[in-house]
Amino acid sequence: MIYLDNAATTKTSDVAIRAMLPYLSQVYGNPSSLHSAGQRAAEALEEARARVGACIGAAPGEIYFVSGGSEADNQAVLTAAALGRRKGKKHIVSTAIEHHAVLHALQKLQKEGFDVTLVGVGADGVIRAEDVERAIRPDTVLVSVMAANNEIGTLQPIGDVGRICRERGILFHTDAVQAAGHIPLDVRAQNIDMLSISAHKFGGPKGAGVLYARKGVPLYTLIEGGAQERGKRAGTQNVAAIMGMAAALEEACSTMQATAIRVAALRDRLIEGILAIPHSALNGDAHRRLPGNANFCFEGIEGESLLLLLDDKGIAASSGSACTSGSLDPSHVLLAIGRVHDVAHGSLRLTLSNETTAADVDYTVAAVREVVAYLRNMSPIWRDLQEGKRQFIL
Ligand SMILES: *Cc1c(COP(=O)(O)O)cnc(C)c1O
Repeated sequence: MIYLDNAATTKTSDVAIRAMLPYLSQVYGNPSSLHSAGQRAAEALEEARARVGACIGAAPGEIYFVSGGSEADNQAVLTAAALGRRKGKKHIVSTAIEHHAVLHALQKLQKEGFDVTLVGVGADGVIRAEDVERAIRPDTVLVSVMAANNEIGTLQPIGDVGRICRERGILFHTDAVQAAGHIPLDVRAQNIDMLSISAHKFGGPKGAGVLYARKGVPLYTLIEGGAQERGKRAGTQNVAAIMGMAAALEEACSTMQATAIRVAALRDRLIEGILAIPHSALNGDAHRRLPGNANFCFEGIEGESLLLLLDDKGIAASSGSACTSGSLDPSHVLLAIGRVHDVAHGSLRLTLSNETTAADVDYTVAAVREVVAYLRNMSPIWRDLQEGKRQFIL
């Protein structure tokens, strides 16, 4: 299989598995227990906290272990909501291209009386820091802007947004789930107050993540119960998964520069090959994007059929985010960059890893060409386009 769906999840790395095994077998104590079996697990957790923190420039005391990106995003948004209620501030600024974990949490708050401004993007899929600045009001309590988009891979100017927020004393959260382990992050230099990470997007196991909260941020407790995570997240920690996450993040960060150069070169080879298909287009800026992300639209094609035929050829791809697959609504991100419904339906996301080879890329380009031609041959829309009954958009 050629696995090109690394934005959905990554293979658990060997380093992560090796780091996890002792905590599934020998060191199985509950980190909250006072006996030495428990204390060995507790010490491991504290070591992982420091290692994860070091990767993003945070202190160990600012790292909270959670179940993943969705939980971290929800906790960050609800932290701002609780603060807003106390301070009488009810406005939140975010973007039209956030992950649903942020967008749906914000929708819930809107029903509870919060005002939400979603800053839009241009065709390049990159928000403008000036637009965020203009959206800020005296009653703004939170700005949430993702570091890198999960569908089209575009990198967002979080350093500029962070500076704007810090100058105004507004909380700044960034969903860094696609960024962590792939591009450099520094919570101090980028003035980040809260940041979400998910282990399974950089070679760690599923079901583990981190919410970084700067010292002094009054974190809201999403899960009540025991005193784990300094009272901010109850529930016995998933010690093995956390150890795997720390090892995977350290490995990803220490090899980041070399991996990014190699993977970006393969990504560009893939983009060049696929854009040779007539009436196709790249979604999102060609350069300001994650090293491993390529996302395309093809006119006269239906994304689901494309995926299934590629799967038959041994290629695992995606036509948007996993959360929207199965639904007929086109991706909110593709609509936000101005793709019309018909074109947005014909999208294909291919996301590479450090294991992707040039041969994988060449095989994929040939397979996509073949499948697109096959589907267009059968498509009534494509016939209309050919006969001039419909206008080409791409
Ligand atoms: C995957 C993803 C999430 C959700 O993370 P989970 O750990 O799967 O809950 C949130 N935001 C972005 C940008 C993602 O890519």
